[in-house]
Amino acid sequence: MAATFSDLRVAAYCPRKLYYRRREPDRSPPAVVADRRDLAFRYPDLLLADDATLRAEPIEVPPGRYRRRLRRARERLACWDEIAAPRARNVLLDGRECRGIAHKLVGDPPRPAIVSPGDPPEAGVWEPHSVQAVAAAKALAWERQRPVESAIVEYPAHGVVRSIDLTTRRKAAFREALRAVESLDGPPSRVEDDAKCEPCEYAGECGVRSRSLKSLLGD
Ligand code: SF4
Repeated sequence: MAATFSDLRVAAYCPRKLYYRRREPDRSPPAVVADRRDLAFRYPDLLLADDATLRAEPIEVPPGRYRRRLRRARERLACWDEIAAPRARNVLLDGRECRGIAHKLVGDPPRPAIVSPGDPPEAGVWEPHSVQAVAAAKALAWERQRPVESAIVEYPAHGVVRSIDLTTRRKAAFREALRAVESLDGPPSRVEDDAKCEPCEYAGECGVRSRSLKSLLGD
């Protein structure tokens, strides 16, 4: 069976985390995830919103900075209009190796956008989101039978929207995550990485530490 985008994302974070996640009786995300993802479909309104309105939204930065970030993204990204008004939303993509939801299809020919409810890195995108975006691009390429060589990753709670190319390194990370998903049949080794283990919701079970809100928002 094809690996799901979300399993690939979690495996890229830590294969052992995917092992625990798969044993959960209910893997549906908490409501805060949907609330934050919803911001990515309201950029035109959020650009015009006043401070009080933005403060009532699930936004992680002060209103002025939020609007400035969105304005910068609008100026920087040639495909901004399509990001703000995508041709399709929450599209199920069924590829040869992987399947899952692309939160948006952007442009013509289309490329996928994935929307993270979490915090962005200083630059670029986190590795699990890179893997998720490559997976979505590959599934889209399989469906359309044409190459898809870039994707969008959005962190709407921070007003951050970034375009990534499917470089050799990103594709290799996707392959590694795919192998981890396909070979998962028992608990893999711990990652031995405090930066990953500290916010991990399975830290207690895994023998490392305890659950935090951040762990619910992204891998
Ligand atoms: S606590 Fe660390 S090793 Fe254990 S599942 Fe989480 S990230 Fe992986």
